[in-house]
Amino acid sequence: MPSQTIIIGAGLAGLSAAYELVRAGMDVQVFEAQERVGGRAYTVQLSAGQYGELGAEFVDDNHTALMTYATQFGIQLDPACHFSDDLYWFIDGTLRNGMSLTAEQSTDLDNLYVKLQSLLDEQQDPQQTLDEWLDAHPIAPFARRIARLLASSLFATDADLISIGFFAYFTGISNRAYNMRVQGGVSRLVDALAKYLGERVHTNAPVRRIQQTDNSVSVSVETANGLVEVVAHSVIVTIPWSVLRHTLIEAPLTDIQREAISSLPYGGVVKTLLQYPHCFWSKSNFGIVLLEGEYQAIWEPTFAQMGAEKILSCFSGGNSSLKLSDRATDRAMAAVNTLYPDAPRVISSRSYDWSADEWTRGAYCYFRPGELHRFDPHLMQPAGRVFFAGEHTAPVEYRGYMEGAIRSGQRAAQQILNLLGE
Ligand SMILES: Cc1cc2nc3c(=O)[nH]c(=O)nc-3n(C[C@H](O)[C@H](O)[C@H](O)COP(=O)(O)OP(=O)(O)OC[C@H]3O[C@@H](n4cnc5c(N)ncnc54)[C@H](O)[C@@H]3O)c2cc1C
Repeated sequence: MPSQTIIIGAGLAGLSAAYELVRAGMDVQVFEAQERVGGRAYTVQLSAGQYGELGAEFVDDNHTALMTYATQFGIQLDPACHFSDDLYWFIDGTLRNGMSLTAEQSTDLDNLYVKLQSLLDEQQDPQQTLDEWLDAHPIAPFARRIARLLASSLFATDADLISIGFFAYFTGISNRAYNMRVQGGVSRLVDALAKYLGERVHTNAPVRRIQQTDNSVSVSVETANGLVEVVAHSVIVTIPWSVLRHTLIEAPLTDIQREAISSLPYGGVVKTLLQYPHCFWSKSNFGIVLLEGEYQAIWEPTFAQMGAEKILSCFSGGNSSLKLSDRATDRAMAAVNTLYPDAPRVISSRSYDWSADEWTRGAYCYFRPGELHRFDPHLMQPAGRVFFAGEHTAPVEYRGYMEGAIRSGQRAAQQILNLLGE
């Protein structure tokens, strides 16, 4: 029987799984469809030596698996935002943070958080979307607007789609104290893992078919010389299920796994980086500004970077992101101008539409009513020798995060080590 494990996808889940297996003395091969590794962790350089993130960016204070890897590779984390001082809402033309809300707005928001927390405490997953739940409860109009804004700016979807049970997990996020960024960009962490793995990582190598046989797994990899069959003891599939549903997989999947692979929804995000020649806001930290419109969140990734130039990251999530197309940069500049009408001219920009990325087909997964409890126990279960990792298979509070990808890779590696130990 072959002794190696194949890992499909060199995002943080695949690289973490490979790293853990190699450290445990295992033989692994990682196949990545794209020319670059990292997947949704994607740092880009702009002018003046500054950088921005087109994908993952913030590290929360409970993201301990990522922090441990950063320490192992000598990578520092920079401060990003302190909550709630640095979280702002631009509502009805006024920029407010937790300190400057009116007493009535504060009470309305607290009331929303309490109701969401009780859903979590009681582990309820009502068969309702966020919109349906808001309509069925006495939630004040201000808090409703904030809740809808969070659906797009955090979950990359819309209030008429996301289940209230899954949305309630944001309550934990709202209680968070601070978050950070990877100094030099998240791609540094990706590159450190890939460097450790060396020639075990194969780029430009999309996997087209996964087939479980009696005592092994066979994978068809597309190479410059055509399809190549690689046989392994086991395989870890880390690719998003929005992509996996277009890949042939012959394994003893449960009916629910098949259903989840074919239907798990992924939100859309367009992220646009705008670089300005200088700072044009008065606060020391731009913070994270949530606003209603085509872009729902704007923040400054250059907070801890050198140089007079400033970058603003503009995030469009959910349905509005799908309509931006080639207008993304212009619309991002317009969104900044609603906050700061005197903003100077942009000196450089980059924009990325994650729904249009053939190897992601969306930003990250979310759940519609009823899906969370139905799918959840099946997402991280192996199907014979086929194991699953990726943010979508992580514990629910880490889903949609780098932390979730890393933890899922570590868990899949452990599942394989357990199988070998049997
Ligand atoms: C816009 C945006 C903002 C985000 N912001 C944050 C944030 O602030 N903080 C945070 O922690 N997280 C954030 N995330 C989420 C984070 O990026 C992801 O949870 C994490 O990077 C997912 O890692 P992964 O390994 O599960 O998947 P991926 O990174 O998608 O890796 C999967 C890999 O598989 C490859 N692949 C696909 N199909 C095949 C195939 N057939 N054969 C071979 N390879 C294949 C892909 O090319 C990709 O490299 C953000 C994501 C997006 C899109």
